[in-house]
Amino acid sequence: MPGRVLKGNEIRDQILADLGGEVARLAGKNIRPGLAAVLVGDDPASQIYVRNKIEACGRIGLFSETIRPSAESTTEEILAIVQGLNERDDIDGILVQLPLSDHVDENKVLLAIRPEKDVDGFHPMNVGKLATGQPTLTPCTPTGLIEILKRSDIPIEGKSAVIVGRSNIVGKPVALLLLAEHATVTICHSRTQDLVAVCREADILVAAIGRPAMITHEFIRPGATVLDVGINRVSDAAVVEQLFANTPKRLARFREKGSAVVGDVHPEHMRELAGAYTPVPGGVGPLTIAMLMSNTVKAARLRRG
Ligand code: NDP
Repeated sequence: MPGRVLKGNEIRDQILADLGGEVARLAGKNIRPGLAAVLVGDDPASQIYVRNKIEACGRIGLFSETIRPSAESTTEEILAIVQGLNERDDIDGILVQLPLSDHVDENKVLLAIRPEKDVDGFHPMNVGKLATGQPTLTPCTPTGLIEILKRSDIPIEGKSAVIVGRSNIVGKPVALLLLAEHATVTICHSRTQDLVAVCREADILVAAIGRPAMITHEFIRPGATVLDVGINRVSDAAVVEQLFANTPKRLARFREKGSAVVGDVHPEHMRELAGAYTPVPGGVGPLTIAMLMSNTVKAARLRRG
């Protein structure tokens, strides 16, 4: 029997509806949470990401502002913008859209964001708080995974969670968040020996690798919950036709567009074996922006509430 689909769009809408209520309550106290996005240069993908984030702000009644320094801006110029935003009382969250131009010291810029306004949850202060179990702003995509599990009534406590991928933005924070929810956590990476055997132990398997459909049937314990974080664009027709042999709609879309978005888990194998799973697209992806909104409201509550 095919597994239960964990629909990210529906969970995102629930979260945004809940946040709308909280924004209304804060409005009663004359607080309107505000997010500032710093979008350097004119990278088309970054422009779309920022536009989607700003639109989400509008949807739940947050104040938002986009600051658009040119691609030639120096590290010092961007630092000055961040410092200005750090000082502003109407700005609760600061988002610096990555990547920055090559000549800009990205680390320096991210470190300059006041930790209380670090709605991406990447500042070492917030990472340290997460690691030591203190309440803090936590990274959006990993926090979204926890929301998916909780809002789908999938138990975490005491379960075996295996995460494939150890990046600072996904794998490690997912591991820390699952640990905080009392899962027994294993983190895997490119040097892990017998990855198949480790993954097959998982009640909750998280794939955050960046390799299309790498996780196939032998990795998945039947009935496990599989969360596929991967977003990979594939344009090889032979690969896409093999992956979506049983999904004519996906094949038709591929023929129209010339590429398909594929997760890190083989879509057919996941559907057949997992007890519950997040599809790609429409699974984990939609939660990232919802959690950015949630962090902005949380930052306003903590700093001003
Ligand atoms: P990174 O490239 O930073 O990390 C990939 C991780 O996968 C590394 O830890 C690497 O191990 C591990 N890995 C690579 N190959 C293998 C292998 N053959 N076996 C085991 N482990 C392997 O990627 P990110 O964490 O940034 O992103 C992961 C995926 O998630 C990407 O597809 C990305 O697009 C997607 N993503 C989706 C988001 C969303 O909103 N849904 C947000 C962010 C990312 P090692 O450390 O040893 O090199």
